[in-house]
Amino acid sequence: MSKKVAIIGAGIAGIAAARELEAVADVRVFEKSRGLGGRIATRRAEPFAFDHGAQFFTARTRQFQSLINKFPESVVQPWSAKVVTLEADRKRFKREWYEDHFIGLPGMNGLLKAMASNLSLQTGTQVGQIAANGDQWRLLNEHQESLGDFDWVISAAPAPQTLALLPEVFTDLPRIAAAQYSPCYALMLGFDQAPALHFDAASVRNEPVAWIAVNNNKPSRPEAASILIHSDNNWAEENLDTDQDEIIAGLLASFEQVTGIDGRSAKYSSLHRWRYARVEQHLESDFLLDSKNSLAACGDWCRGNRVEDAYLSGDNLGKSLASLLG
Ligand SMILES: Cc1cc2nc3c(=O)[nH]c(=O)nc-3n(C[C@H](O)[C@H](O)[C@H](O)COP(=O)(O)OP(=O)(O)OC[C@H]3O[C@@H](n4cnc5c(N)ncnc54)[C@H](O)[C@@H]3O)c2cc1C
Repeated sequence: MSKKVAIIGAGIAGIAAARELEAVADVRVFEKSRGLGGRIATRRAEPFAFDHGAQFFTARTRQFQSLINKFPESVVQPWSAKVVTLEADRKRFKREWYEDHFIGLPGMNGLLKAMASNLSLQTGTQVGQIAANGDQWRLLNEHQESLGDFDWVISAAPAPQTLALLPEVFTDLPRIAAAQYSPCYALMLGFDQAPALHFDAASVRNEPVAWIAVNNNKPSRPEAASILIHSDNNWAEENLDTDQDEIIAGLLASFEQVTGIDGRSAKYSSLHRWRYARVEQHLESDFLLDSKNSLAACGDWCRGNRVEDAYLSGDNLGKSLASLLG
């Protein structure tokens, strides 16, 4: 009989691990959010749409390139954006990208949806505890209700959540605390009339705003003018507990400073705080695997801070565990 494997988290790391394991095990993925993708996220607010997490991904390894090549251009393709660098006095420099920058379609999480199409996935389900039950692990939700018994459990959640979840017997538990993140605010603005921005994406220097993307200029996105603003990570760290209205005011002032556009005229406005946005300190490991206790962990925080790192962590863990089980 095939082993039962539970994976906690349907970001790209968890999905990648599940894809490698599904041929040799009975795999179930649990995701606390309503949708999959984790930080590769798309917010829809009709008629607007925003990729409010990862903006694009690069593919520096054959392993990740070969995943991208498996899917059609309707799901993932290079983004040939007009990119600039902006500064406070509205100085603008044209930038070149020296490697392909890929995006998912019709939103950033489009690739994730395609990757997960054959997987057994339970969304809207937060795993609250992993409890020993004989020689298996019992997963419990936040109401202490059983989600099933499993031979193996993989946490593909961000490091602080993995640290809180994995049982104390996990051999690498103390290492997980070394992973460090910085936060990021995402401000989403929808306009009746497209503001006059002469770029698709702008990287901003020395300002509370660090990145501006004209989301509707990306291929296959809805036409309604949708502007995505990301804060600088250090600024977000300094303002982690600042009142939401103040955060919005600070980002709008900075946006106006570098573009000359008054974002207060937006018809739609929403702020999202990514508490664990960017990995600042990773573990320099592909993944963590404790074969004695049948527990493992993966995610960007193991090996880097990009989508590709998260994919490689999950994919490599899935391959290693598949060879143990297979
Ligand atoms: C604002 C922002 C911009 C970024 N820009 C880029 C970029 O341009 N290019 C790039 O390469 N990378 C970028 N990144 C980083 C990239 O998004 C991440 O490295 C990558 O998506 C991490 O994937 P992951 O699977 O490791 O984790 P995640 O995507 O965080 O997935 C973890 C999942 O676990 C779920 N989860 C957590 N706890 C539980 C629980 N108890 N029960 C069930 N589910 C749980 C979460 O809901 C989440 O879906 C950006 C990130 C952010 C936030």
